[in-house]
Amino acid sequence: MAASPAPLTTWAGTHTFAAPRIAHATSVEQVQDAVRSREGRVRALGTRHSFHDLADTDGTLITVTGVDPAPVLDEVAGTVTVGGGIRYGDLALWLEERGWALHNMGSLPHISVAGATATSTHGSGNTLGTLSTAVRGLEFVDATGSLRTLGANDTDFAGYVVHLGAIGIVTRVTLAVEPSYLVRQDAYAGISWDTLLGDPEAVTGSGYSVSVFARWTHETVAVIRKNRVSEGSGDLPETWLGAGRLLAPIIDSDAWTEQGGVPGPWLHRMPHFKLESTPSVGDEIQTEYFVPRADGPDALRAVRELGSRIDPHLVVTELRTAAADDLWLSGAYGRDTLAIHFTWLPHPDAVAGLLPDIERALAPFDARPHWGKWHRFTAERLAAVHPRLSDSRELFARLDPDGVFANAHLERLGLRG
Ligand SMILES: Cc1cc2nc3c(=O)[nH]c(=O)nc-3n(C[C@H](O)[C@H](O)[C@H](O)COP(=O)(O)OP(=O)(O)OC[C@H]3O[C@@H](n4cnc5c(N)ncnc54)[C@H](O)[C@@H]3O)c2cc1C
Repeated sequence: MAASPAPLTTWAGTHTFAAPRIAHATSVEQVQDAVRSREGRVRALGTRHSFHDLADTDGTLITVTGVDPAPVLDEVAGTVTVGGGIRYGDLALWLEERGWALHNMGSLPHISVAGATATSTHGSGNTLGTLSTAVRGLEFVDATGSLRTLGANDTDFAGYVVHLGAIGIVTRVTLAVEPSYLVRQDAYAGISWDTLLGDPEAVTGSGYSVSVFARWTHETVAVIRKNRVSEGSGDLPETWLGAGRLLAPIIDSDAWTEQGGVPGPWLHRMPHFKLESTPSVGDEIQTEYFVPRADGPDALRAVRELGSRIDPHLVVTELRTAAADDLWLSGAYGRDTLAIHFTWLPHPDAVAGLLPDIERALAPFDARPHWGKWHRFTAERLAAVHPRLSDSRELFARLDPDGVFANAHLERLGLRG
């Protein structure tokens, strides 16, 4: 197994890993060996798309992105079982060739299945769960180096899925799949904030998956509606909620998947960004908070109060939705959710200064932070908004009493002792 020294940074360069060692496993046996022969603690590393030290360790980072993903499709069960290091985009291509699909994708297809599901990465859709809700089984190397498999019927499975790396090194993941489908993306620019706040469901419910792009001081927002073509959404109006339909992409960039109402396979429409392109900006910071969808208008009004301080440091805000789920540490646990996202310019000091104020504004709505993005939540505040946090802490402690997979980040969040 190849071993290389750090330094290594997160994809966006927002954190330099302190780990003195990184092990690039090419087989499950190598993962087991690396855990058994560890010097100090261990953490799994995915494709490094989180924005802070969540995956970091003072011991050894192990990545399974080099293990043959060897997908296995079970058409009867409607599942695919695949190596956890595979990128969503690569799995999507493999599935599409066989006529199958995932229910949703994140904005980018570059993230690993194991890393994305570990943090409850989501796309959008009022009726669509986060990507983690598609997980039907997990295979992982535990703190003793043993290989364990779990299925959806196993006790506490809902506590294992969004694990933040605390259960061990996930080697294979089983995901629900469905027959392939076509999607069209239509963008509308010029919907007023007042219209959005007056009836957000009319916007977020206007497609299979809907994203609102906004700046807080502007009068209007833009919307991308992703509709399954088979659902009779063939003809969309040229004007909608006072806004015109755009024939050109919302942002003039080859990095974005095709818009303009052209139907295409799900994998080329559900993510915003193409697999072969650099997603988003690159030199950026991200933050995201999850509030109950019913509180959406009030929560957005509260953040708008800070708009003139936010916008100078903002690339764009994106608003998305996710259906309630039962995964203990999911951002959408127990409540239909509105996700309020910020792509920031690389202004770390200004962003760090703004986050406490944004979090104060969202506190009345019991906002939860995205685990992979910048936030300033204390352990106490997290426990107040995540009803199953103490159950998760107990589960992780039971699985890994010596804290092999613990790190400073999980300790700060109160998820490890
Ligand atoms: C440009 C950009 C766009 C994004 N868009 C979205 C979006 O649309 N929606 C959204 O919700 N988030 C989004 N994110 C955030 C991103 O999806 C999450 O941070 C995700 O967890 C990153 O996955 P990763 O494979 O890079 O994992 P990493 O960042 O490498 O790791 C994340 C966590 O997963 C654990 N982990 C990784 N691999 C394994 C494994 N094999 N076994 C056990 N644990 C493992 C790590 O220990 C760590 O705790 C975006 C990030 C970027 C940079």
